[in-house]
Amino acid sequence: MTTNMKALRKMQPARGLSMEPTQVPAIGPTDVLVRVKTASICGTDLHIYGWDRWSQGRIKPPVTLGHEFCGVIEKVGDEVAALKAGDFVSAEMHVNCGHCHQCRVGEAHICPNVKIIGIDQDGAFADFVKIPASNIIKLDETIPEHYGAILDPLGNAVHTVLAGAIAGQSVLVTGCGPIGLMSIVVAKACGSSMVFATETNEHRRAMAKKMGVDVAINPATEDAVKRILGETSGTGVDVLLEMSGNPTAIQQGFKALRAGGRASLLGIPTESVPLDLVNDVIFKGATVQGIYGRRMYDTWEQMTALLKAGRLNLEPLFDERISLEKFESAFVKLQSGLAGKILLYPNGLSHN
Ligand code: NAD
Ligand code: ZN
Repeated sequence: MTTNMKALRKMQPARGLSMEPTQVPAIGPTDVLVRVKTASICGTDLHIYGWDRWSQGRIKPPVTLGHEFCGVIEKVGDEVAALKAGDFVSAEMHVNCGHCHQCRVGEAHICPNVKIIGIDQDGAFADFVKIPASNIIKLDETIPEHYGAILDPLGNAVHTVLAGAIAGQSVLVTGCGPIGLMSIVVAKACGSSMVFATETNEHRRAMAKKMGVDVAINPATEDAVKRILGETSGTGVDVLLEMSGNPTAIQQGFKALRAGGRASLLGIPTESVPLDLVNDVIFKGATVQGIYGRRMYDTWEQMTALLKAGRLNLEPLFDERISLEKFESAFVKLQSGLAGKILLYPNGLSHN
């Protein structure tokens, strides 16, 4: 097997990324080497590309990006028995320590020692990626490859939607980026009643409609809280899925939540967010949850089961398919806020 490959890497502490020749990763006894078939770009990759303040504090170049992907196992380490070359796989890219309190009590997704492949270690925007075998998710052959490439953000959506009751519940999704859009589909598939969404970007409101939202509201031109209270007989929604990280959207979400409702917060604000705790949380008897990553591995089991059962139609979300070398145009398009999920193919384009 060849020892050289190409990868999309951050080489310098500055804006931009570059295609670089590099070495195929050497694997240890409990690792797996995966040949990447399809990858996708996440909002985090855009931050790293742009070299914002967060990236400057976190990323240590040189590093290969990419944490949304699927592929085929090329080879397995000597101690790996449950997987073999040829298996169609994706992976949980949060590698937990296995020893801390949270890891010990079944909450590995909030391990404080987590290392993320594609951020802290070389990722999947490459011909090959090295993954610990325990993080590999074997995929059913019926799951289409393009869905296999977006399981990381889809898992965020599934984790958030299924963090409480959803069947028969009315839902507000604040923010219709890729994860908000996927949440709409997951909530509906799991039997929610009315789904409302707020989104300031017109293109994304149109996407929300395509993905089955009942009411898409532009909070810049309409009083979103008034509209939602009006449509719910003054009660408010049962469930808030916060998918924007925007302070105004968060505050509106809490105002539109019914007394006794559930607020599940996934969006990451870049500043402190003032909340009316007395009226919007305490007197409301609201349940507020922070949501991080995907539960290991409950979320993966739920998500792959939903996909295998054909419950999630995410087709409107997919945008262009391009070879990895053409990454630059994808990043530019994504920064405009007008793109869906762009798929990258390090080992050549395929069409299934
Ligand atoms: P995104 O940035 O593409 O989507 C956010 C959306 O919110 C955008 O479409 C934006 O137009 C919209 N928005 C902005 N202001 C708004 C307002 N006032 N009202 C309504 N909508 C508004 O992000 P994404 O990739 O879909 O991710 C969603 C959020 O989740 C981001 O904040 C991201 O950082 C965060 N995230 C969290 C986790 C986690 O584990 N907690 C994982 C991945 C992403
Ligand atoms: Zn841990």
